[in-house]
Amino acid sequence: MFTLPRLPYAADALEPHISAQTLALHHGKHHKGYVDTLNKLLADSALAGLSLDEVIKQTHGDPAHSTIFNNAAQSWNHDFFWKSMKPGGGGLPDGDLKVLIEHDIGDGEAFAEAFSAAAAAHFGSGWVWLVATDGVVGIVATHDADLPAVHGRFALLCCDLWEHAYYLDYNNRRAEYVAAFLDHLANWDFANANLTAAAAAMNEAEPITMEPNAAPAVVPAT
Ligand code: ZN
Repeated sequence: MFTLPRLPYAADALEPHISAQTLALHHGKHHKGYVDTLNKLLADSALAGLSLDEVIKQTHGDPAHSTIFNNAAQSWNHDFFWKSMKPGGGGLPDGDLKVLIEHDIGDGEAFAEAFSAAAAAHFGSGWVWLVATDGVVGIVATHDADLPAVHGRFALLCCDLWEHAYYLDYNNRRAEYVAAFLDHLANWDFANANLTAAAAAMNEAEPITMEPNAAPAVVPAT
């Protein structure tokens, strides 16, 4: 049985950029719904008892298990998303990530433009991610529940592009929501910690948690 992870801050901690009402619904209804549905689906399944990473890995790309994959991946994605934000976050990354972003994407302004453009260009529901792939950082968007790990990429930071993430606060103005995420919420400490973990895993020549997909649905931003 999986349990709904607690938010890493109070429901009103991200105001005025994300309202307490949005966060309460997003965490308490949407995220909880994915976890509850996953538990029901796994109850009589051979996959019961596996870790969330293993459930995602074993169901990815299997049409017979697409509902389990979707609910498992959305459970994972939302936990990662809560950690990708913090009160008083945003601005430019620091530490090792700053060096890599400047090398692979550009300065802080170029990074923000690329991240915003990937979010704006993404059609429908999904996610925009800062990822590390073979030591190179980049920005990708994924559809619906899809996530970087099943495409051989390490997730460093993500922003939820489902309308439930921003509609109450921003209506259809996704660009304003993404700008607020970048300017006021992005948790660069979390992203830097993920980069350190990714570098350690690559140095050990360990396979990434999940096998790369033969046909990635993610498209690197240009
Ligand atoms: Zn969401």
